[in-house]
Amino acid sequence: MKLCRFGGDRLGLVDGERVRDVTAALAQLPGARYPLPNHDVLIANLPALRGAIEAAVKAAPVLALRDIALLSPVANAGKIVAAPVNYKKHLEEARADPALHHQNQVAEIQRVGLFLKATSSVVGPSEGIAIRHPERRTDHEIELAAVIGKRADRVSRETALDHVAGYCIGLDITVRGPEERSLRKSIDGYTVLGPWLVTADNVPDPSSLDLELKINGEVRQRANTRDLIIGIADLIVFASSFYTLMPGDVLLTGTPEGVGPIKPGDAIDASISHIGAMRVAVRAADAPAAVR
Ligand code: MN
Repeated sequence: MKLCRFGGDRLGLVDGERVRDVTAALAQLPGARYPLPNHDVLIANLPALRGAIEAAVKAAPVLALRDIALLSPVANAGKIVAAPVNYKKHLEEARADPALHHQNQVAEIQRVGLFLKATSSVVGPSEGIAIRHPERRTDHEIELAAVIGKRADRVSRETALDHVAGYCIGLDITVRGPEERSLRKSIDGYTVLGPWLVTADNVPDPSSLDLELKINGEVRQRANTRDLIIGIADLIVFASSFYTLMPGDVLLTGTPEGVGPIKPGDAIDASISHIGAMRVAVRAADAPAAVR
């Protein structure tokens, strides 16, 4: 299944260029009362909800994909866990360019570990990226994002991928500079997730996906997840050895080489094979978002 969230907190099933509005299936979710659960209720209940989604398809209004405003496929991520420098060529480019490393030591992921981004940084492709510090270099990073589907506490490599609900494209937008990664990467809108969640059963091999990112039509990043230094299963082992991963937590697996600056007015086209493609507009923080 390709599940999207779109304008007005609606749920859609993506079928080529069409979207079937299956919002009716959300009525099957358990009602939440204070204190709210520390996971995403839709992602946690996705296996049980499949029947309701399939039932809702029959009477679902059909919309054109181009007419809807795509939101992040995860509404309530509890954690955004991210892998720094997890492609060898990106490690080499980061070490070679002072504008990227800023006199910070760029260590291998095995030494530097993982970092967390604020969940308030998450937006969907239709919301775009609002640049807050235009005087500072702000870069694009395309990454495969894995969305956790089941509670994962100190899991083994053999079972790690069983804890993935599905995959989407992630943009880990980054202000370059000397501060901690979590500060520079947690600005509102600096984690773009989309265009939709492709459930894990529809991604035959997450370790051989082509990624591509273009700025204004020009290719800047092109790579394959087979070149990850620490693969997805091992990232889940690593992360879950420190903190329990919950349904709806998002794992950003790292960006390949080719990172570079973005500025207001740019259009980012990001795509990953077996997942899809999305266009994300970049604007100044004081400019209004495009109305759709
Ligand atoms: Mn990154």
